[in-house]
Amino acid sequence: MGTSHLGTGASDGLFIGPVRRLGQAAADRQGTGHADTERAALQDAIASAIAGLTTLLARVEGEAQDILGFQVAMLEDDALSAPALSAIDSGTPAHDAWASALDSEIAGYEASDDEYFRARAADLRDIRDRVLRHLSGSGATSGTSGAVLVSEDIAPTTFLETDWSGGGAIALMRGSTTSHVAMLARARGIPMVVSLGELPQHVATLAVNGGSGTVLADPDDAQRAGFDAALASDAQARGLEEKFRLAPAMRRSGARIDILINVAGVEELDHIDPASCDGIGLMRSEFLFRDGAPLPDEETQYRAYRRFVEWAAGKPVTIRTLDIGGDKPVRGLTPDGEANPFLGLRGVRLTLAREDVFRTQLRALARAAVHGNLKVMVPMVTVPLELTRSAALFDACVAELRQQGIASQRPPLGIMVEVPAVAVLPELFDAAAFFSIGSNDLTQYVTASSRDDVRVASLNDPSHPAVTALISRVARFGQEAGIPVSLCGDMASEPKHLATLLDAGLTSLSVAPARIARLKAALAEL
Ligand code: PEP
Ligand code: MG
Repeated sequence: MGTSHLGTGASDGLFIGPVRRLGQAAADRQGTGHADTERAALQDAIASAIAGLTTLLARVEGEAQDILGFQVAMLEDDALSAPALSAIDSGTPAHDAWASALDSEIAGYEASDDEYFRARAADLRDIRDRVLRHLSGSGATSGTSGAVLVSEDIAPTTFLETDWSGGGAIALMRGSTTSHVAMLARARGIPMVVSLGELPQHVATLAVNGGSGTVLADPDDAQRAGFDAALASDAQARGLEEKFRLAPAMRRSGARIDILINVAGVEELDHIDPASCDGIGLMRSEFLFRDGAPLPDEETQYRAYRRFVEWAAGKPVTIRTLDIGGDKPVRGLTPDGEANPFLGLRGVRLTLAREDVFRTQLRALARAAVHGNLKVMVPMVTVPLELTRSAALFDACVAELRQQGIASQRPPLGIMVEVPAVAVLPELFDAAAFFSIGSNDLTQYVTASSRDDVRVASLNDPSHPAVTALISRVARFGQEAGIPVSLCGDMASEPKHLATLLDAGLTSLSVAPARIARLKAALAEL
């Protein structure tokens, strides 16, 4: 009988297939015993790794580009290789010197109290293994279609290099649900389970249930039949939903609802048919800003934003200005050592404090606006002055662009409603062009329970009557004042909350792309 292992679901879905274990690259190389040769070998391996990543960089865009760009920047930084080179000078072979220098760097990231930094350790492991592979002459990895990738943690580049066309899944002994790779898996619909702890060494087949966060190692015939039955009923349910994908989102009564999508990276667009949604309701622009990487300049941001509006071909695209801080720190921008980052310098509080960064983004957005139907929204607004100041800065950026003869347009400016102060008195914010309710943060602030702490997960419930009362309040005010209201928090992606949200008076939801068909199907039943 196969053994069942419980972890945490990071991306929904079922998959069974052969295991492909990704260990640390085998540096089955003998040292030459000569410091000069070892030095040169390490420097060559780093150069080859940079060359390989640069080739890959040319094939990807948006967030993937940033992830790879970050790795290239790390590899090009002499500070990363300095400890390894000095160990080589003391007689250590290149592969041992590199592995131990990187391991101590990784240990620093892993020891962080912050989930975000722990998640970044995956990038460093990827860099370590990539160079080790070049040192041992095994070159870069290539992905395998139709397998379950098993590892301690996997790097975003491994995900991006893997051919998922024949399906697949990811089972990680450690890992985190907020890592970049988890986000990529969700957007692509690849089942993923993290935090599984040790898995048996010699597993040939793994059945992965991303929804329940469980994996079954080498299932026996009865278990296999049970999993196959679950797969069949899941496939049947998905098949039934599929016919709704390209249909307008409509209640049984015929009432039309707008279903838009939440996206983070440009490469996600490749897997989504624009005809399946009513536009982009939330583009989380902070994912263009990789921690540790140089800040993207105006041109880079402009090209990314333009891709979104062109993809949508006239449908609305709402790009949110930077929401860094909280659980999304970016070194050099967010303050260190905040006692309570979710209540600290986050979102618009930070961008107003860093006008240089805000201006660059607003200029890029104003330039992208001429290519389609762009709207811009500001996160974490608490007082009307934050909206007024953002709007004034936006106007100034557009005026400056015009003076420079650069094509631009001032898009409508709306706000996220995610701070209780706004949800309680939305009438103070009637200068906003639209409201988008951020139920993730609204729930954590109303219920005083952190959105990233599993121990208080039962309190962090968006269907708490206090939260839904505020959602109704904002929807009602929007109707009275003629201000469009949408909701883009995760609760909109859950069919179980659909009736509550529509009863609250909402007619526009922004959801995870992988949930479009399921939600439209659920809607037709209401
Ligand atoms: C929210 O708070 O609901 C939201 C959509 O924003 P984020 O999850 O990016 O904080
Ligand atoms: Mg939020």
